[in-house]
Amino acid sequence: MVSYYQIFRALRAYIKEVHMVPKDKKLTSNDVPAKGAKKNKEKYKELLADYPNLWEDRSEDDFTHAYAMSEEYKRFLNEGKTEREFVALTIDSLKQLGYEEISSVKTLRAGQKVYQSIKDKGLMVAVVGKKPMSEGVNILGSHVDSPRLDLKPNPLYEESQMAYLKTHYYGGIKKYQWPTLPLAMHGFAVRRDGSRISFTIGEKDEDPVFYITDLLPHLGTEQMQKKASEFITGEDLNLLIGGRPIEDKDASQRYKLNVLQYLYDNYGLVEKDFVSAEIEIVPAMKARDVGFDRSFVASYGHDDRVCAFPALMAIMQQERPDKTCVVMLSDKEEIGSYGNSGAQSALYENFLIELFVKTNGVYDELAFRKTIAASKMLSADVTNGYDPTFASVHDPKNNAYVSKGITMCKYVGSRGKSGTNDANTEFVADILSAFAKNNIPWQTGELGKIDAGGGGTIAVYMAKMGMDVIDCGVPVLSMHAPYELISKIDLYYTYLAYKTFLECL
Ligand code: MN
Ligand code: MN
Repeated sequence: MVSYYQIFRALRAYIKEVHMVPKDKKLTSNDVPAKGAKKNKEKYKELLADYPNLWEDRSEDDFTHAYAMSEEYKRFLNEGKTEREFVALTIDSLKQLGYEEISSVKTLRAGQKVYQSIKDKGLMVAVVGKKPMSEGVNILGSHVDSPRLDLKPNPLYEESQMAYLKTHYYGGIKKYQWPTLPLAMHGFAVRRDGSRISFTIGEKDEDPVFYITDLLPHLGTEQMQKKASEFITGEDLNLLIGGRPIEDKDASQRYKLNVLQYLYDNYGLVEKDFVSAEIEIVPAMKARDVGFDRSFVASYGHDDRVCAFPALMAIMQQERPDKTCVVMLSDKEEIGSYGNSGAQSALYENFLIELFVKTNGVYDELAFRKTIAASKMLSADVTNGYDPTFASVHDPKNNAYVSKGITMCKYVGSRGKSGTNDANTEFVADILSAFAKNNIPWQTGELGKIDAGGGGTIAVYMAKMGMDVIDCGVPVLSMHAPYELISKIDLYYTYLAYKTFLECL
């Protein structure tokens, strides 16, 4: 029998042979820089990591592209504030570019472009590559839902001769940020006769908006003593929607009835329709440039449109890529990626199966699973930008900075890396070397100090299928606030990074 000692010795010999520096190899001056010499400056530069601010490091040409791309991005932000709107807007653009619904085609060959709506709230997009799909697919995955206020199933009430809707917040928000903002209503409902209706109130300049009140400071003594998580509670987020009664003086609940009459006359909806409807309350503000130099964009919903948009731009550039390229836009990321439109849903996988079957001719489960295992994905999601005003929650050496480009996060998660994907070394190195070859700047970072909090992304659900996945995306200031901030140069270089990933991995 082989003893443990023998195994140990065999292993040690193997490790020495394969991985150690040979004993006779002397370190030369090329390996270790000599002290003092001026010519070593270049060598030191190679040794040290440097993550420059891109406004200092790049050329005016690129800045022009960054500003131009931001104009188009702002249009997407303003017209696609909810997941349904963003998906509809994207399908519209895809159709104009010749993309077809995957179910409408029998077979697929290189250069063909297809998409599949996922319950109208998520989307899969693909461009078929020249290489067989079994060599793996390059996937960019981001999400198109954002923190917001939904309505409770029985939301409408009147009190003190005013009409309100009770809301239930969606995703991680600071509740106190939502009162005293102009709010818009984006609704989708199915009427009793089965007909569907979408409506938006509060986005046009002439539209009314909706409003959540806060207490005046004069009477805020007690409120101001409370913790920030408590001074506006979930039950305080009541949306003011009307202040006039229905004309019929004999009716009861006249303020509530006046609203219901309006909803019925304009949209054919009755009170019970609230139970099935998706009515999302979002900030009514438009995306705006920020700063004298207009270097930033403030908007609702950068998380995660600021990754979804450049991902779409990157795939839309692909005509006949080497490998099959996929963009995945998922829903419900902000609440854990559950539900049939969340990233954990089999519907996303089904699209990949359909892609496989229609390029391959037959379905072979093992071959499909191996294809997925050979695939690579960028989990394209935002990260927190370093904010000097709140310096204490960041590790300045391990945090993303705005205007330094796409942030590569080997892992996210909370505490002891709980709930993270933690990408493989080989995969991370492959991507970084592709970026280096294509002069794509990047930076790295963690989501704040270890014990300050944490977060998750869709990376874990895709990695479960066996593909290589890494989190990466644009640094955001005031992330998850009703109005978030990004740098235009980060948007542009993230697009170039995603394009490089699709073309070079
Ligand atoms: Mn996100
Ligand atoms: Mn988020």
